Amino acid sequence: MKVVDHIREANGKTLFSFEILPPVKGESVQNIFDAIDPLMEFKPPFIDVTYHREEYMYKKRENGLLERVTTRKRPGTVGICAAILNKYGVDPVPHIICGGFNKEETENALIDLDFLGVENVLVLRGDAIKSEGRFEPDPEGHSYASELMDQVLELNQGIYLHDEVTRNPTNFSIGVAGYPEKHFEAPSLKSDMKYLKLKVDKGAEYIVTQMFFDNDKYFEFVGKCRANGINVPIIPGLKPITTLKHMSLLPSIFHVDLPDALVDELEKCKSNAEVREVGIEWCIHQSKDLMERGAPVLHYYTMSKSKVVKRIAEALF
Ligand code: FAD
Repeated sequence: MKVVDHIREANGKTLFSFEILPPVKGESVQNIFDAIDPLMEFKPPFIDVTYHREEYMYKKRENGLLERVTTRKRPGTVGICAAILNKYGVDPVPHIICGGFNKEETENALIDLDFLGVENVLVLRGDAIKSEGRFEPDPEGHSYASELMDQVLELNQGIYLHDEVTRNPTNFSIGVAGYPEKHFEAPSLKSDMKYLKLKVDKGAEYIVTQMFFDNDKYFEFVGKCRANGINVPIIPGLKPITTLKHMSLLPSIFHVDLPDALVDELEKCKSNAEVREVGIEWCIHQSKDLMERGAPVLHYYTMSKSKVVKRIAEALF
């Protein structure tokens, strides 16, 4: 079932969902089940599975020189979606990204997902390779999420690459990302909003936001979206802070601000155990407010560690 249909069926009740990461190459799918099992009691109607581009690593050759090799540390998104469908009967939402993929590879992944009966995709651009400063599209790939959407939309009409005739149409519902605090590369929120609207006008049926720690930012963003004619559901993405390192890591990686009141509380903590308690309390507080004010879904970034999100969900669902 499509994410938007789950939202429609819930009839105003806030749903619970979360995102997991494929395990590092060589690890077992049991890691994923261990992350999902404790959260199943909260009845997630859908579970997102991230997609990961290649990374560079350097291997020492016999002659002592370093050789750059390309590796994908977290493969397996499509297989994990199949595992989620089989084991839990829950709708998986694979993320599909531009970065590191050519159109042919993307089409093959979409064909596999279609054969599995997956009906949702979250379409994203992806970030730059870790060792490179700015995003470079694959020469045979897409530069923006909206371009990648075009490929999915064509498949939904039965238009495959290099084919003259139309064939079996896929049936993907598309979600896209939105940034309450602006995407870090966008010159202004207005410009970012213009491209978000482009994605929605093309057919994105819902938006999932980047994490935020100040609900006012989410509600201001929703207000601006509505003022700009973006009327699809906007699902807030939430991440509980669990370590002191998050104080500097989250702003630098995700380009988000932490509110003063949260930073003040975190600075009083003497251990990560104390930080975790503050992070959980903050996230529960955020979640309750979002629920009361009608958020359609609360979507948690678990990083495949479910203990903390379980404690939050217990307080809410
Ligand atoms: P886009 O919508 O393409 O926008 C990227 C930037 O370009 C923005 O600044 C936008 O304003 C601008 N822009 C858009 N269209 C145009 C245009 N036509 N002309 C000029 N400028 C334009 N990354 C992963 O690698 N794997 C994942 O699984 C993953 N999951 C994510 C899930 C969520 C909910 C979110 C919020 C992010 C996720 N990301 C993931 C990170 C995401 O890929 C990055 O944030 C990326 O930098 C932007 O992706 P996007 O889809 O928002 O890009």
